[in-house]
Amino acid sequence: MSNILAFIEVSNTGQIRKSARSLLTAAAALGTPVAVVATAPGTGGSLVDELGALGAEQVYLAESDQLGTLLVAAQLEALTAAAAELAPAGILLSNSIEGRDIAGRLAVRLGAGLVVDAVDVRLEGGQILATQSVFGGAYTVESAVDGGPAIVTVRQGAIEGQAPAATPTVTAASVATNAAHSAVIDAVNDATTTSTRPELRDAPKIVSGGRGLGSKEKFVLVEQLADALGAAVGASRAAVDSGFIPQTSQVGQTGVTVSPQLYVALGISGAIQHRAGMQTAKTIVAINKDADAPIFEIADFGVVGDVFTVVPQLIEAMAARAN
Ligand SMILES: Cc1cc2nc3c(=O)[nH]c(=O)nc-3n(C[C@H](O)[C@H](O)[C@H](O)COP(=O)(O)OP(=O)(O)OC[C@H]3O[C@@H](n4cnc5c(N)ncnc54)[C@H](O)[C@@H]3O)c2cc1C
Repeated sequence: MSNILAFIEVSNTGQIRKSARSLLTAAAALGTPVAVVATAPGTGGSLVDELGALGAEQVYLAESDQLGTLLVAAQLEALTAAAAELAPAGILLSNSIEGRDIAGRLAVRLGAGLVVDAVDVRLEGGQILATQSVFGGAYTVESAVDGGPAIVTVRQGAIEGQAPAATPTVTAASVATNAAHSAVIDAVNDATTTSTRPELRDAPKIVSGGRGLGSKEKFVLVEQLADALGAAVGASRAAVDSGFIPQTSQVGQTGVTVSPQLYVALGISGAIQHRAGMQTAKTIVAINKDADAPIFEIADFGVVGDVFTVVPQLIEAMAARAN
């Protein structure tokens, strides 16, 4: 079986990011999953067991003392070195800001083809095929890369499952970075988290509200349902533009693209630009008082009704079930 590299993102505090699970699951479906991690010297060993539990059969630890000072340079060198050593058929990264940044540079370096924002990958006749949801989710296309390894960025949350746990072999390599060609990190400021809710991008459940909520005060209803479900809160652009919620919660073409297990749309009409960011959700529930709202065209379950009548009943019913 061919090696498939999965680039593992690590937070500033040294935690493996959630995207690792789906990348290693996808890699295992295509070949031998190899986790590639860029770490500060001597710190990567603690990640090996966790990566093995997520299915990595090999862990390639690329150590660099410039990880915290040069933007994505060490990560790029890590993948370049792993690709040279392991001759992979595919290289998977998260479709995050970091993943896309590295993937583009890596494709130029390796002269390889790049497919971005894939929602699935599979093997056919020995070739890697990546599925993308395009034109606002109206079409699904499959793409293959001719020649060189296929570099694919995978949409967060799009690929489910869990690769069988493995006891990985470990390769440690020291990588050198060229500071002259890299952006320098002056300071890192973590955005203060003011919410205990899941992060929107990779939340398994999302409740989003639209203009139909009517005001910032009434938008609280969206948050109440989200909390009852343990979900993240999202919004349409109209809700953001109306000042109901900050722009960071906007789902859609000019906002965040999500692919949760459950997406509940409250008072959202379902404009193409909104659908572009959520259409690949596994189950879509829509509550809207207009039976002709386009959101019902893609909803798995729909309720034609007023959110201020339906949602409180839903929360009440869930609470009754929980007791
Ligand atoms: C270049 C471009 C980029 C864009 N990017 C995005 C994007 O990233 N994300 C995005 O969302 N939009 C985006 N838009 C805007 C998009 O076209 C729509 O205008 C927007 O999605 C509409 O938001 P909405 O559904 O909340 O509002 P509306 O379209 O006004 O729909 C409100 C809905 O609420 C329902 N409603 C009203 N009251 C109630 C009630 N009490 N109970 C139940 N239902 C009720 C109505 O029936 C209606 O269907 C973009 C537009 C452009 C041109």
